[in-house]
Amino acid sequence: MISDSKKVNIIGSGIVGLCCALHLQREGWDVTMIDKVGPGESCSYGHAGVLSETSALPNAMPGVISKVPKWLLDPEGPLYIRMRYLPHLLPWLFRFVKAGTEIESENTVRSLLELNAGTVEKYQNLINSSQVKSLIRSSDYLNIYQSESSYKHASAGWELLQRHGAQLRMLTGGELHELEPMLAPSYIRAVMIENQGYATNPYRLVQVLSEQFSLGGGVFLRREVREARVLADGNVRLNLDLGYVESRNLVVAAGAWSHQITAQLGVRIPLETERGYHVMLAHPEVQPRHVIMESEHKFVATPMEMGIRFAGTAELAGLTASPNYERADILLRLGKRMFPGLSGTEKTEWMGHRPSLPDSRPVIGKCPDIPNVLFAFGHGHRGLIGAPMTGEIIADLMAKRQPKIDITPFRPERF
Ligand SMILES: Cc1cc2nc3c(=O)[nH]c(=O)nc-3n(C[C@H](O)[C@H](O)[C@H](O)COP(=O)(O)OP(=O)(O)OC[C@H]3O[C@@H](n4cnc5c(N)ncnc54)[C@H](O)[C@@H]3O)c2cc1C
Repeated sequence: MISDSKKVNIIGSGIVGLCCALHLQREGWDVTMIDKVGPGESCSYGHAGVLSETSALPNAMPGVISKVPKWLLDPEGPLYIRMRYLPHLLPWLFRFVKAGTEIESENTVRSLLELNAGTVEKYQNLINSSQVKSLIRSSDYLNIYQSESSYKHASAGWELLQRHGAQLRMLTGGELHELEPMLAPSYIRAVMIENQGYATNPYRLVQVLSEQFSLGGGVFLRREVREARVLADGNVRLNLDLGYVESRNLVVAAGAWSHQITAQLGVRIPLETERGYHVMLAHPEVQPRHVIMESEHKFVATPMEMGIRFAGTAELAGLTASPNYERADILLRLGKRMFPGLSGTEKTEWMGHRPSLPDSRPVIGKCPDIPNVLFAFGHGHRGLIGAPMTGEIIADLMAKRQPKIDITPFRPERF
């Protein structure tokens, strides 16, 4: 019999909530996961699948802000702001600019490298062995450039990663085209990060994790949390769209919606959403051999079991605006230029809400003043990569153990 003190509710069943749930379950916790949609049907459904532990450069870095006007003016640029949303966005943008110093970037890189460490192995340990081989593959990660000048502009970031121990190989155009013969000849430079990984089907991955959660006795409640409240006895009461649940312990892993819940618990977090898109081509004529980041337009081409996926774009337009699939069409156009052999038929498109903090670090830690409530959200562009370590940290904190890595950079009080 599990005592009430070993019960925990998790709000959110994306990749972060699922990894927290499985780690807590392994330690004997009785876990209930609550989500308004099915497991992994939000942002964790359609990402690019990249599992590169070196992916640790913050979005705000010295030199980035000066590129923003060019990106905004280019219809095919990686950044788009809906002007109607701008007034709401200004405080977040202000913090974003403030985070772009050298010292802050160094701190972010150091902390994200620790959070990302061993992510491929961590998934391999988390997933049922019969499924793991088909779901998680190893791959060198290629970051490709069409011009010497954009390659040179990116060098500060690569040097920063190298100072923190990243192993990179700089490739000439000839070496790149030997590795990726179907790539357009206009690509003349690449940075290769060896022995990284990727998820071959992000939605199947979350489904497998969710099945494991259920088999382990976990309960899934398909409900919307309308209100979270701490009662006089310290228990947390969640008012749902139908009924309520109460428990001693709570994890908020509600992705881009998490700040709405933390505000009810008295904690204001400047969480925004960077909406991203993908276009998926079934039966493509060309399939890349590696996971490839097109570093100038900042989108990823991933060879998935369902075909080829082009994913990217940061669209700042909030949680409620309807998708603008013109952004996905742009990804397709760019993808076809990258691989001229593609015809681009049989496509599907998708939009998802990245949960993003202005300093590109997630919030992981105890809710200030309510230690039995933990936060685990805001992983931005790297939620797949950072989720397994986040799950370990949450299990440590719930068990009142010291986490294996320093979580000070992720504390909710930093804002
Ligand atoms: C185009 C694109 C490409 C990306 N590529 C990569 C990549 O290659 N590698 C990588 O690591 N990351 C990538 N990401 C980022 C990654 O997808 C996210 O960081 C990650 O999915 C976030 O997971 P999550 O569990 O925090 O949020 P979600 O998956 O969004 O889950 C949060 C859940 O909380 C639920 N919820 C919220 N509020 C409530 C409420 N009040 N009541 C009930 N339920 C609630 C939601 O319904 C949702 O299901 C990409 C993102 C995009 C958009």
